[in-house]
Amino acid sequence: MPDRTSTTLMSSPRFRRILLKLSGEVLMGPGGLTIDPAMTARVAGEVAAAKQAGYELCLVVGGGNIFRGLSAAAKGFERGTADYMGMLATVMNALAVQNALEQAGVPNRVQSAIPMDRVCEPFIQRRAERHLEKGRVVIFAAGVGSPYFTTDTGAALRAAEMRCDALFKGTSVDGVYDADPKLVPTATRYERVSFGRVLSDNLRVMDASAVALCRDNDIPIVVFNIREQGNLAQVLDGVGTATIVRNEGE
Ligand code: UDP
Repeated sequence: MPDRTSTTLMSSPRFRRILLKLSGEVLMGPGGLTIDPAMTARVAGEVAAAKQAGYELCLVVGGGNIFRGLSAAAKGFERGTADYMGMLATVMNALAVQNALEQAGVPNRVQSAIPMDRVCEPFIQRRAERHLEKGRVVIFAAGVGSPYFTTDTGAALRAAEMRCDALFKGTSVDGVYDADPKLVPTATRYERVSFGRVLSDNLRVMDASAVALCRDNDIPIVVFNIREQGNLAQVLDGVGTATIVRNEGE
């Protein structure tokens, strides 16, 4: 059962540096357009508002709107090759977000786990740190750079490496539920839930490896709806609707 005795996000500490994980599908348009400029601009607007509010922002962008290794492998692709194709898809999305952020006046850099020096920087932790110090948003592409992983795990890894205070997972639902709210009308949203509960009940937050990495490094995960305008800034301020996943007793 959801933890009804819990307090709201209002009581959570204000975070200074956050990692925002965006699934590739948040860039998709209503017409099925793979990378919809209007949707990409909206996401950039959310990031710009959070930046203006003074937060340091790292971004990890998925690639599921273009290519998913696992589903391609199910159709007969060799898994490793399919995963590299998926990682390349995340680079395309990262460039789209970079472009939209630049148009919104937000300075940024893309760093890829797979070096491709004509396109973007390679991932170098200290260099990324310097970008953040200079007020730039850093977009991390290509996940962890290896097949058999996802960008969720990439997000957890970069959040740990960049010493982020929290990992914000922007999705199309407003938090974590005890059942799929699209299938079960009585599903209840958790206000707070522990990493242990997420893993033992197999709640759909992020991949188990990503959740475990956040648990071990004590990085709370905040799940919220990125499609609602102005929501990222609101959730950061502790007034929006979201679920916070953290270690028990905190
Ligand atoms: N991928 C990978 N290693 C990584 C990150 C991503 O192999 O470290 C591949 C994998 O095939 C995955 C695809 O890239 O399906 C797209 O990433 P993901 O599914 O995480 O995107 P999202 O669902 O967040 O849009």
